Amino acid sequence: MIFETLAKTGHEEVVFCHNPDAGLKAIIAIHNTVLGPALGGTRMWPYATEQDAVNDVLRLSRGMTYKAAVSGLNLGGGKAVIIGDPNKDKSEALFRAFGRFVNSLNGRYITAEDVGIDVNDMEYVFRETEFVTGVHQVHGGSGDPSPFTAYGTVQGLMAALNVKFGNEDVGKYSYAVQGVGHVGMEFVKLLREKGAKVFVTDINKDAVQRAVDEFGCEAVALDEIYDVDADVYSPTALGGTVNAATLPRLKCKIICGAANNQLANDEIGLEVANRGILYAPDYAVNAGGLMNVSLEIDGYNRERAMRMMRTIYYNLGRIFEISKREGIPTFRAADRMAEERINSIGKLKLPHLGSARPQFMGRKG
Ligand code: NAD
Repeated sequence: MIFETLAKTGHEEVVFCHNPDAGLKAIIAIHNTVLGPALGGTRMWPYATEQDAVNDVLRLSRGMTYKAAVSGLNLGGGKAVIIGDPNKDKSEALFRAFGRFVNSLNGRYITAEDVGIDVNDMEYVFRETEFVTGVHQVHGGSGDPSPFTAYGTVQGLMAALNVKFGNEDVGKYSYAVQGVGHVGMEFVKLLREKGAKVFVTDINKDAVQRAVDEFGCEAVALDEIYDVDADVYSPTALGGTVNAATLPRLKCKIICGAANNQLANDEIGLEVANRGILYAPDYAVNAGGLMNVSLEIDGYNRERAMRMMRTIYYNLGRIFEISKREGIPTFRAADRMAEERINSIGKLKLPHLGSARPQFMGRKG
């Protein structure tokens, strides 16, 4: 049954990690390593069933392949999930046991933070393996990727504004931002610095208050965010918020935000395009965090990271061009761009020089 699923999703390898003493139940999914080692974060979540955990890790790891490919990175796609409650089940032993499993893959999979995991947890993983990114700056790592994800999202936004309105003047437009967490708060700060009108909502009332007090955003109720008269809808909390119930309510001309898997399904993606709304594909827009951690492999450098964020602007431009030229929705154009890169590099017959094993220059344990 699992191999039938893998045949459909195209995964190379799925590793079940079990250490009862440490209470570890984790799954590492390596989707595709044609472009390079599989890099993707570890999510800790109290999955209701083991099947839910398998489904999640397969979906997320596949997404990482596309994100890396469309972003021009020499990385493959992978992801890990730890089954457990991040508020109750964390321990040094758990993360060190997990680190040993990551290490056993010898660089085929490189991990990082994701939902439920922070840089302190990664400290323990880092004690067992070098194949981890997003480690603390004191070790020569890059730290929290969220500000880079936010900055990269603004680059993607500028490309979208350019196509839709013929200018990139972020401050001229209004935004409905759903979720002011790590990425969202930084994102609204950048929008407000450019003078934009910004509406925000979040289930966390303190976060909303901070966005209002510190950055001058306007708060709206959770469900009202879909009805706000704003030029851009920016999902920056959860996936699946562009769906059959919300789409008819959206008044925006552009959808551009940092959340993963924004479109509930492909039919909705088609309907978004039919309604003349420009969708900036999520995995291309939110690649800033991945770009940032990827730089740890050959020695982290903040300036290089900031320059790299700009490529998001050009990647989006290319996606919009393909969409226009081929007459296909932007989400399909992004997939096509990613698949073409993987296929063309996969066909290279030249020998690969040097070690394929990532080196992690300039880091110390
Ligand atoms: P976060 O947990 O810090 O922030 C999410 C925010 O959304 C929280 O403030 C939460 O209260 C809020 N939220 C949850 N449910 C909500 C709802 N129904 N309505 C409104 N607000 C709600 O997470 P983050 O790191 O800021 O990531 C945000 C999104 O961006 C996620 O989808 C994540 O997968 C994606 N993403 C993040 C990064 C990164 O670098 N952190 C990179 C790529 C993609």
